[in-house]
Amino acid sequence: MSALRRLPESVVNRIAAGEVVERPANAVKELVENAVDAGARRIEVTLRDGGKSLIAVADDGCGIAAGELALAVERHVTSKLAGDDLSDIRSLGFRGEALPAIGAVSRMTLASRPAGAESAWAIEVAGGRIGAPHPLAGAPGTRVEVRDLFFATPARLKFLKGADAETGACVDAVARIALARPEIAFTVHADGRKRLAADAAQGELLDARRARLAAVMGESFAANAVPVAAARDGVRIDGFAGLPTYTRAQARQLYLFVNGRPVRDRLLHGAVRAAYRDLLARDRHPVVALFLSLEAAAVDVNVHPAKAEVRFRDAGTVRGLIVSALRHALDAAGYRASTTVAHAALAALTPHAGVPGLFPQPGRAPAAALAEAAAGFQAPLAGTPPAGRVEAGEDPGAESLAEAYPLGAARGQLHETYIVAQTTAGIVIVDQHAAHERLVLERMRRALASHGVARQMLLIPEVVELDPALAAGLAARAGELAELGLAVEAFGDGAVVVREVPALLGQADISGLVRDLADDLAEMDSALTLKERLDHVCATMACHGSVRAGRRLTVAEMNAL
Ligand code: ADP
Ligand code: MG
Repeated sequence: MSALRRLPESVVNRIAAGEVVERPANAVKELVENAVDAGARRIEVTLRDGGKSLIAVADDGCGIAAGELALAVERHVTSKLAGDDLSDIRSLGFRGEALPAIGAVSRMTLASRPAGAESAWAIEVAGGRIGAPHPLAGAPGTRVEVRDLFFATPARLKFLKGADAETGACVDAVARIALARPEIAFTVHADGRKRLAADAAQGELLDARRARLAAVMGESFAANAVPVAAARDGVRIDGFAGLPTYTRAQARQLYLFVNGRPVRDRLLHGAVRAAYRDLLARDRHPVVALFLSLEAAAVDVNVHPAKAEVRFRDAGTVRGLIVSALRHALDAAGYRASTTVAHAALAALTPHAGVPGLFPQPGRAPAAALAEAAAGFQAPLAGTPPAGRVEAGEDPGAESLAEAYPLGAARGQLHETYIVAQTTAGIVIVDQHAAHERLVLERMRRALASHGVARQMLLIPEVVELDPALAAGLAARAGELAELGLAVEAFGDGAVVVREVPALLGQADISGLVRDLADDLAEMDSALTLKERLDHVCATMACHGSVRAGRRLTVAEMNAL
């Protein structure tokens, strides 16, 4: 090793910058946050090439005095921490790191004109080198232009995704902030196309939020969400929860805010997942926008330079409140299904609805044309078996079944995945895997509560290879798992052996189940109670023990389900 030396400022800055700006969206987030902190009423974002060649953020906020421009781009300089108290943070920024970080890895121009100033002044920072302030034409407010992001660190450039993906991430970063601040107008243009436009929303906070949600996430979310409101022990939660039938394949649309700050926090994500657990299939994610407010001192935002993670003084209360507030809101909604799909589907199927544009034929009433077309569908084609599986239609008991059961009588199966049932006045489509999973879960819970889960010994114990840490984690929970009917033991380094499984599971894929369980257990945080953990494990097992999509069911099986 060579002698110790202090790293030059430029290297220190680049190291620090790496934590703040990983990709264009991080720079966009920091610049928009600065505009919000400056009291802007209108924020305009322009992107080119996914933010790689240009990010421009213009606001009409308080501006920066000409004499302070050079200071603003220095590290650890901020106007936002009045005292030195990191436990009382009321602005989005407070670390004084964003401008110097962005300036260290791009060619940045910061131009600003405070209200009342004669003209704007600007300062350039390129690869960390700070230029001299100079006057420039410009409207009141601040405009930051970031060009050639990561030009000085080509390695970083290589890690970026394509322009479309980076643009998407930038738009998402602005959308998150826009959701939290409905009183500010936002626009995002990318490569000349408008990607987001939200006018300042007026009125009461709840109305303003609903309007903003519709502007940012689309009308369909606003129409398919229920309001959430609850408070406990100094923590308040407001917002909207998407109906359980309005789901996404990815967890990207969990919009969570703590004191107006968009966060991506594991504790909060986990709480949302727990609240929806019984209502969603395992691989579906809810859409929610939840705003938590609590005393600034009860939450630490100084966890990571990107300020997207938080720590709560009382994590248990926050988690419990989210779960109960969401469950309460969703219970109140009953089993209301998302309207967007249901209405469109019904409209298309109702002959009198006269869907415009469908089978348009000059001089004929659309209803007549539709009726004729519908009749054509009903008649079986000569010589071919009917599409779908319609034996259920021949079942004379179908009518009475439709009356007796809320989910109706099974009339067919589509794509070996969905059961189509007929009720007295409607159609019910059931995801067979999700439905069976729920049944197994309920049975398991009931068994657990009364007499313990019945086990079934495997003829040949199954050895499952795992990452050593995961295997150890699983073996450490062997006691809990045994209660649920799953007997596992450590089997050397990086493997476990399974000797017994819950009888309910039938012919489950054991190694798949064990791998999922190990992942689940590793992910679960300590804020979960033992009961919740058991429940989670039950859910994972139920999923593995259920009829998979892709299996043909007989009419009797469908009706039984
Ligand atoms: P922080 O936001 O943590 O204070 P930044 O590096 O992001 O750190 O910004 C440094 C300072 O520059 C801010 O504290 C603020 O005084 C000033 N500043 C940055 N952007 C703006 C803006 N858009 N409008 C007014 N002032 C700004
Ligand atoms: Mg900032």
